[in-house]
Amino acid sequence: MDLARSETRIFRGIAASPGIAIGTVRMTDRSRVAVSEVSIAPDEAAQECDRFQKALDHAREELQNLKQQIAASHGPEHLYVVDTHLLILEDTMLTRGTLDLIERELINAEAALKRNLLKFKEFFAAIDDEYLRERAVDVETVVERIMRAMVGKRQECIRSIDGGKLIVIAHDLSPTDILQIDKSRVIGVATDLGGKTSHTSILARALEIPAVVGLETITGADIDGLPVIIDGTDGTIVVNPDPETFRDYLKRKQHYDYLEQEFLKLKDLPSETLDGHRIGLMGNVEFAEEIPSLTGHGGEGVGLYRTEMLYMSRQGLPDEEEQFRAYAAIVESMAPLPVTIRTLDVGGDKLATDLHLEDEMNPALGLRAIRLSLRKPEIFMIQLRAILRASALGKVRIFFPMISGIEEVRAAKRLLEEAKGELRAADIPFDEKLEVGIMVEIPSVVVIADILACEVDFFSVGTNDLIQYTLAIDRTNEHLAHLYQPLHPAILRSLKMVVDAAHAAGIRACMCGEMAGEPLFLPVLLGLGFDELSMTSVSIPRVKKVLRRATKADAERLVARALTYATASEVEGFLKGEISARFSESFD
Ligand code: PEP
Ligand code: MG
Repeated sequence: MDLARSETRIFRGIAASPGIAIGTVRMTDRSRVAVSEVSIAPDEAAQECDRFQKALDHAREELQNLKQQIAASHGPEHLYVVDTHLLILEDTMLTRGTLDLIERELINAEAALKRNLLKFKEFFAAIDDEYLRERAVDVETVVERIMRAMVGKRQECIRSIDGGKLIVIAHDLSPTDILQIDKSRVIGVATDLGGKTSHTSILARALEIPAVVGLETITGADIDGLPVIIDGTDGTIVVNPDPETFRDYLKRKQHYDYLEQEFLKLKDLPSETLDGHRIGLMGNVEFAEEIPSLTGHGGEGVGLYRTEMLYMSRQGLPDEEEQFRAYAAIVESMAPLPVTIRTLDVGGDKLATDLHLEDEMNPALGLRAIRLSLRKPEIFMIQLRAILRASALGKVRIFFPMISGIEEVRAAKRLLEEAKGELRAADIPFDEKLEVGIMVEIPSVVVIADILACEVDFFSVGTNDLIQYTLAIDRTNEHLAHLYQPLHPAILRSLKMVVDAAHAAGIRACMCGEMAGEPLFLPVLLGLGFDELSMTSVSIPRVKKVLRRATKADAERLVARALTYATASEVEGFLKGEISARFSESFD
């Protein structure tokens, strides 16, 4: 073996789907079909157009077959990926556009298709939205399929890859590639391209296949067939690990897998303390594809459905029908468990492409979230009607983000009533008892929580923003990360004020910020009296484990003590000591 192939090599990319896999590299060729441009005579144009049409038919047939295979192996939830590709195949900009180019420019079909793809790429590249830019990849994948049909070149199918414990490495993998993976053979994936929100990453997470993306040039390395470790939790790939690294990762993998198995045993057990106190453990989701993982981890409902992805993933705004379908998919798959739908929360670090937001000096303090919805009621009403319609299909709750005072709550509720009136007039069913809540993520709301509690059915504390605004720490600024302290005494006191105000008014106190999913914080949140905690799916059994070994009475004592400390580090030291005295193992 030459020296380079026997060296240990480490590649760092984007952690796209958690978990550690140890296996062998299997490079798969996803190189594009090479296309050269050839001029044709006017009387050859019809023949070229015909070749293109036949390739479209062929690609359509392949996708229909793929759809059946995926339906058989994964059920119906993920078919939307193939459906998206089928829709792209019907797009007139793609089909008519290519035929026009053949006829007008008198060039061969492959070259016309390639030129047309370049137009698509320019169009997508100009979009200032990572999620939408990623959708250009879907168009490229479909074009590649048509191209291969025209030149009669077959591509290696992930489903037919032989061997065991393979880590498939490719320049790029399409969502349909991920759906074809047989987990008994392929245990991890890594790609040059891709981001955390690409469909490929979303599906890898949904199917729980460890993945690292955005490695840029890994396919240029001569590593096919070599031993490899992929750590999808921190985005690392180690090729030819030395014995010490291998042992280290093996231990980590065994620990991770052991904990995952241990945690999953708790899946169907009640989320209740030793002294019989229940807390609802729910999931935060952005896409319907995350629901199987949520129910698989024992989620008791969706505590936060971030609807902004619908607005960020497209050109133009989603209409009522499209929103209704998206909400209905989640509500129906969770029924009878509740789905808590948050109205549009764009602005700040979340940009939507087609809302024409102006540049602001302080976007985090700007025209965002509920402020934007109230400023643009025509857009807000569409969302309200869609949510109301979905409420007829299961248990839906609605809540508003970035509320700062009572006028906003009242204005939002007025519009909600108006939307209900419109549906009633049109005889369209919805849940008349739909619960209405607010996010508590601005300090002013904490201070007047007692007043606001009389206006709504529940509070949901968004600690990601509440910490940002209370401590004046930009949540996206890595230089300030050390000051971003969930256990800061000001935060603990704020949380207490919110829960106390909620309970005094007889409404629920929930939390859906990241703080809710940290097992170390569970005793504090339990002691403060939170009724529901919503978090990313994999955290649910971890939090449940601590919950089931705790008692409410003990947690209340612990919180009373924690509230007496003057700094976050004192609180943290105290908590860690108390937790390690009660639990011998770690939770991550
Ligand atoms: C929060 O702010 O804590 C929250 C849950 O909302 P987001 O992270 O979407 O701002
Ligand atoms: Mg927030």
